[in-house]
Amino acid sequence: MFDKTDVLIAGAGPVGLMLAAELRRDGVKARVTDAHDERVFFVKALGVTARTLEIFEDLGIARDAIDAGVWITGADTFQDGALAFSAEVLRAGLPYGALSLAQFETERILEAALARNGGHVEYGATLVDFTESGDVIDARIQDACGESRTVRCRWLVGCDGARSTVRRQLNVAYEGDQYPQTFMLADVDVDWDLPRGRMYRFNVSGEGGAAATTLAALPVRGSARRYRLSMVLLPDDAARHGLNSTPDFNEIERIMLPILPKGTRLSSMRWSSVYRVSHRIAQHYARGRVFLAGDAAHIHPPVGGQGMNTGLQDAHNLAWKLTLAARGVAHEALLDSYEAERRPVGARCRRIDEPRVEHGPRARRNQARDARDATARGLSRQQSDRHG
Ligand SMILES: Cc1cc2nc3c(=O)[nH]c(=O)nc-3n(C[C@H](O)[C@H](O)[C@H](O)COP(=O)(O)OP(=O)(O)OC[C@H]3O[C@@H](n4cnc5c(N)ncnc54)[C@H](O)[C@@H]3O)c2cc1C
Repeated sequence: MFDKTDVLIAGAGPVGLMLAAELRRDGVKARVTDAHDERVFFVKALGVTARTLEIFEDLGIARDAIDAGVWITGADTFQDGALAFSAEVLRAGLPYGALSLAQFETERILEAALARNGGHVEYGATLVDFTESGDVIDARIQDACGESRTVRCRWLVGCDGARSTVRRQLNVAYEGDQYPQTFMLADVDVDWDLPRGRMYRFNVSGEGGAAATTLAALPVRGSARRYRLSMVLLPDDAARHGLNSTPDFNEIERIMLPILPKGTRLSSMRWSSVYRVSHRIAQHYARGRVFLAGDAAHIHPPVGGQGMNTGLQDAHNLAWKLTLAARGVAHEALLDSYEAERRPVGARCRRIDEPRVEHGPRARRNQARDARDATARGLSRQQSDRHG
């Protein structure tokens, strides 16, 4: 005897949770497993776009998200200490704008929606491998003690992140590369004279002896002064701090304060991290009855804030198609449209969200232009991204 379900979802990050919550709401037998023993509380994604808020509304959680977040009212770019460019989030007549919402809050809200729809996350349950035969898939799930069981499903969805087991077993190429830059982030309280609610970017061109770099600040709910600061590390600092290290507060101050406005004070660091960023896209989003969504299918630099949003919109696109196929009211060929519609969106995000820090005499002009373009793109996408 097997455990049976219609849809098995591997991975309960934001994308797996979104898919599970929508499927359960629509009456589909869906289960979601996660390798972790419990939810992890990293902030990671912060930017939630207007389009994502629309799909949250469809799930009845837009209000919860807004209550837990901070509206972004605009973005200011400083070039070598002087204000170079400002953009506003224009919301006249629009229900939603750009929201800053910590990823663990997004996950908490989605998990609560899943629970309201009668589902729950099976934690400590790792998808190890699967076999497909006819119109069923047998997935082997291992618990924390190494015990295995088989879950038989009609469709399997890999929402299991960038190192996706599902994608690897499908032998689908994950095309792309890692950027050469090393990034550092810190969640801290920031005391300065700048108004709350705006994103800030501080570019250093490298003229006059200082090394070229860029630092972004995004408000986070928590205290009235809490921000996520993230920056491109200079080569010496990148060498000093290994990847995935957690620099202490003194290091964060030493490296970041010289880039921030004079007189800025930092305190109350919650976490820090040093990381590299990749841009990759799966050659296929689907093979037979198996699908990939979220980071399992595409990863982008956090600069454009599109990683999680694009993944949530993958889940939203796949959910209604799986629902109709599971109910038998649509031909399964409908599911082919998932890759046809969503892969071009992932490919587009991968092309345009490219981080760049240049050195030398042209850096100042190019940094200002890049910041203006990225800000305008990011903010307009917050409002006009309508890819189903
Ligand atoms: C520093 C940083 C900042 C970011 N900022 C932004 C931002 O501002 N905006 C934005 O949109 N995106 C941002 N992102 C990207 C965003 O965090 C990811 O795109 C998002 O987490 C992807 O969600 P996911 O559900 O696809 O995958 P994940 O969040 O990676 O979740 C995958 C889940 O699968 C589980 N899992 C893995 N293997 C298995 C297995 N074999 N069986 C069962 N479970 C498994 C894992 O435990 C995990 O819980 C940022 C990322 C980082 C690192």
